Amino acid sequence: MDFNGKTIIVTGAGKGIGREIARMLVERGAQVVALTRSASDVDLLQAEPGCRAIQVDLADANATREAAISALPADFLVNCAGTTELQPFLDTTVEAFDRLVAVNTRAPMIVAQEYARFLIKEGRKGAIVNVSSVASFIGIPDHAAYCASKGGLDGLTRVMAKELGPQGIRANGVHPTVTLTPMAVKAWSDPDKAAGMKQRIPVGRFAEPSDIADVVLFLLSDQAAMVNGISMPVDGGFMIA
Ligand code: NDP
Repeated sequence: MDFNGKTIIVTGAGKGIGREIARMLVERGAQVVALTRSASDVDLLQAEPGCRAIQVDLADANATREAAISALPADFLVNCAGTTELQPFLDTTVEAFDRLVAVNTRAPMIVAQEYARFLIKEGRKGAIVNVSSVASFIGIPDHAAYCASKGGLDGLTRVMAKELGPQGIRANGVHPTVTLTPMAVKAWSDPDKAAGMKQRIPVGRFAEPSDIADVVLFLLSDQAAMVNGISMPVDGGFMIA
């Protein structure tokens, strides 16, 4: 897949899956505009050829809109930033719920709005990939707010696919299983819990960031020109197990 001459916004490009997506895109000729939070990651990304980094806290709606506008012009968008906090359902706090929905659901909506408005105004086509999770399909204990936030993101993806498709902008969701990144360490460091999860993945391993990035790049590319509105698990068969 060739992304020469294309500019691609990648949220959460500071670490994990987003970092790998950005790396692979640059390797294939793209210019990446990274929207991420930690200053140290912003500095590292800025120093990399093919990368421009904008520091933003995606939990802040106004700052997110401002950052999205300053990331333009762009050809494609990957909403990859996400966060989690582990709480049993009965102990899920309103504050944590709001934080997760702000970052995992509302921020992708805001960034996609600004990106799509720009394309429509310019009469250009494009593609959006929203990084969701298998957690939007199933109930994972201690992940109530996370599951809800990703379910909400899937709803947005489907509506974007219907409303933006006629304007030449495709929108698809990618649903990783446990992927070996800093977030996975936070959620799956208990060896018993991790072993139980791995047992349910027919290919017998957790995903690597590159497994997810490969699928994201395909969905952005012209090879996926007729793919719109799907929720694609990247889960080694977890969903059928
Ligand atoms: P990481 O925690 O490794 O990286 C997440 C990135 O998003 C970081 O660069 C982080 O920046 C950024 N980010 C998080 N919150 C904010 C915020 N408020 N404002 C700006 N940037 C923010 O996560 P992963 O790479 O593992 O996850 C990427 C996506 O994949 C997420 O949407 C996640 O839900 C999804 N996913 C991950 C799975 C996994 O097992 N890893 C499984 C299924 C889905 P900073 O560190 O500076 O806060």
